[in-house]
Amino acid sequence: NSEKIMSEFETHLNNNGLANEVKVVKTGCFGLCARGPVVVVYPEGCMYTMVQVEDIKEIVEEHLLKGRIVNRLLENGQNSDGIETSLEGVEFFKKQLRIALRNCGVINPELIEEYIAFDGYKALAKVLTEMTPEEVIDTIKKSGLRGRGGGGFPSGLKWEFTAKSKDDQKYVCCNADEGDPGAFMDRSVLEGDPHSVIEAMAIAGYAVGANQGYIYIRAEYPIAVKRLNIAIEQAKQYGLLGSNIFGTDFNFDLEIRLGAGAFVCGEETALMTSIEGKRGEPRPRPPFPAVKGLWNKPTLLNNVETYANIPPIINKGAEWFSSIGTEKSKGTKVFAVGGNINNTGLVEVPMGTTLREVVYEIGGGIPEGKKFKAAQTGGPSGGCIPASHLDVPIDYDSLIQLGSMMGSGGLIVMDEDTCMVDIAKFFLEFTVDESCGKCPPCRIGTKRMLEILERITDGKGKEDDITKLEILAKNIKASALCGLGQTAPNPVLSTLHYFKDEYLAHVKDKK
Ligand code: SF4
Repeated sequence: NSEKIMSEFETHLNNNGLANEVKVVKTGCFGLCARGPVVVVYPEGCMYTMVQVEDIKEIVEEHLLKGRIVNRLLENGQNSDGIETSLEGVEFFKKQLRIALRNCGVINPELIEEYIAFDGYKALAKVLTEMTPEEVIDTIKKSGLRGRGGGGFPSGLKWEFTAKSKDDQKYVCCNADEGDPGAFMDRSVLEGDPHSVIEAMAIAGYAVGANQGYIYIRAEYPIAVKRLNIAIEQAKQYGLLGSNIFGTDFNFDLEIRLGAGAFVCGEETALMTSIEGKRGEPRPRPPFPAVKGLWNKPTLLNNVETYANIPPIINKGAEWFSSIGTEKSKGTKVFAVGGNINNTGLVEVPMGTTLREVVYEIGGGIPEGKKFKAAQTGGPSGGCIPASHLDVPIDYDSLIQLGSMMGSGGLIVMDEDTCMVDIAKFFLEFTVDESCGKCPPCRIGTKRMLEILERITDGKGKEDDITKLEILAKNIKASALCGLGQTAPNPVLSTLHYFKDEYLAHVKDKK
């Protein structure tokens, strides 16, 4: 539909003699998925949503030709008096702060010139010409940036460990194997702003002493793969990848490796085994990738969103970044918000924003005025947060305290009609399917858990099944080899913690 809208714009701009004055730019996602297609008219920053092909004639003839805003298409929060305030007037963006998503929906991701016009590759130039590798690592450490892929490990420390590992060959990797059901944060960054990740990986290469990078991306993201390929080619043409970057003696190259859809390949050791061309199975740690990663060489691995934060940190400084967020969780977090919520889409908020703000102020509340029941964060590794914790600030530590986790940023909202036992079963089915089978606790244990859950939801369960479920879940958490198995019981444990009455209702009167 967006392609049709673009060509309709070209037609009407031509018909009205505006073809040389108004430029139509194709961008990545703006985040407000529920109200697309979106058209933003600059310089006003006037945001039209749910635009249809039939609306284009009016936008061109009224707004572009006569300067009259088409009020019926304006997004909530903007009005024809307030359009000078740009996108800040839109309700959906009021509480957001776009750092990782800064260019998504703003630039044409297929043109390096547009990225450069928005400070692109300025951070790479700065580190190569003004900073030592140690200073770069120090900046990342002081910024307080933590890994956005799920674990929340301090990024600067990871960079330092890799830098300190002595070897003649090191690697930098990007985990773009986003596999959580409902998550599309990394996809949006790669589709909307691929150069931000390329630039960050080159900076990381300089900081840790690596001259080769790999982006591991799932093949189910064809647009992201296409745009990454275009971006890598353009960066090479501009001398921003390859030899003697910015006239220095720093060399850095980048290749893409496609994943075949196995969820476990998002686990760091499995991901690297897959890049090596082998079956993507996790291996025990230590040794950690910073010491022995790809082909047993020191390897730095971060995810897409983590990298997307790097250029602004270098450009604006560690203090700027660490002034955003909470004491132990700095910066912002991107969430893919879905489920029973009006504004499904992609949001980026400062750490410490409450769930209530995300659900009601940014997300526009629950459809049909229904009550909020819970939000699931962290996908199949995470847990549910009930309504009683709507006002808890979202950061790494508070979510863990609530029995959930940040995960990579999936946030599924559930209304009063949702059965929480069904939700737990849905996520467990997913992990049972995706278990690589290497270790028995995960391969056999999660299957047994699912059988018990199915008994319960089929109305054949007994009360002691709930106890068995809980014991099994705790044992799997303690003994599975990798993160997939260690966190697989979380959706069951957190729903048991907050919604035990629903489990009991399923087994009522069955002794
Ligand atoms: Fe494979 Fe599951 Fe064991 Fe991880 S925990 S190694 S996914 S079987």
